[in-house]
Amino acid sequence: MSQYDNYIRNTWFEIDLSQFQKNIEIIKQQVQTRVLVVVKANAYGHGIVECGKAAEKSGATMLGVATVGEAALLREAGVQIPILRMTAYGLNEMQSFIDDDIHFFAWTKEHIETADKLAKQVGKKAKAHLKIDTGMGRAGVFAEDVRPIAEIIQAAEHVDFEGVCSHFHTADMPETDSVFRQIEKFELALKTLEGMGIVPPYIHLSNSPALLRFKEARYNMVRTGVITYGQYYEEKTELFDGMKAIGTWKARLVSVKTLPPNHGVSYSVKYRTSGHEKIGVIPAGYADGFRRRPLGANEVLIHGRRVPVVGSVCMDQCMVVIPDDMEAKEGDEVVLMGGQQEDYIDSLDICEKWGTNNYDVFANISARVPRVYV
Ligand SMILES: *Cc1c(COP(=O)(O)O)cnc(C)c1O
Repeated sequence: MSQYDNYIRNTWFEIDLSQFQKNIEIIKQQVQTRVLVVVKANAYGHGIVECGKAAEKSGATMLGVATVGEAALLREAGVQIPILRMTAYGLNEMQSFIDDDIHFFAWTKEHIETADKLAKQVGKKAKAHLKIDTGMGRAGVFAEDVRPIAEIIQAAEHVDFEGVCSHFHTADMPETDSVFRQIEKFELALKTLEGMGIVPPYIHLSNSPALLRFKEARYNMVRTGVITYGQYYEEKTELFDGMKAIGTWKARLVSVKTLPPNHGVSYSVKYRTSGHEKIGVIPAGYADGFRRRPLGANEVLIHGRRVPVVGSVCMDQCMVVIPDDMEAKEGDEVVLMGGQQEDYIDSLDICEKWGTNNYDVFANISARVPRVYV
């Protein structure tokens, strides 16, 4: 949801919420454990409020976010299920965790002391998930050092020991050694806790690629992000049967005109017409998340056919060459990502051209592209 959603724009991101719910139901059924649906980064661009509410309806146990603002949007929209604020944070964010009943990662004495103090002030219980660094080198305590911090959590009167978790760094690659090394570390942490009589309610390790590939790492909750939206992580792998992409990036041609031979197109004239060419204008540019580079390599679908984007992508628009035998006119539908008639532009093809991954592509479809739910 954004402040632009109520205004006409001839480019928009169309989202199939019923397919989203279907994807969650399929994941739930396949993994046979609880599911935390990750809705950070505006639900990977698909709309945090709409997707968060839909996930709750589909039986998600928890929602995962990366900022307190994201959590607040979900609470304001009436989402009731627990929200986990993942990733590292500053202690100045702790008050919001307590105020909005947000679960959070914890791995230092300062985290727990601050949470305990603030929760006590308002007569609440803070909801801590002990984060183990099993190899990511980012947030968390090393598996070997779990005991002292676990003791502190246990002793904190106003902190509930809600969970224990970690994160894979390479679950999407063919090489699996590191995955099993990370599982080993996680097991070590669990054993230490068990030895102390601690078995937290939520034990979670797997992200999308891991939950597809490593049954042994599902524990009692998985965190599903990119595949929930029917998208792949990096390599095209099989999703569970019946899962599909929920988002299609569309636009309408806002101009079609014929240029004479040897006429330049766009800034710096990186493209020149060879003969008379029909040039269409699409009202989507790099400020919408349709990347500027590599120049000219983008393609879009019009009337079910692939046509090349030519010249530099501008901030608010880009240009395509309409083939001579295509009847295209102002107002005709364009697909920048997704399917049209028989053809399909896979987001992974776009990733390849943009030299990045799907997460980056979706997270950067900007706020001024209206989200339209069908
Ligand atoms: C973003 C994130 C996820 C989701 O990852 P996907 O690969 O999209 O499933 C899971 N866990 C944590 C801690 C994350 O930050």
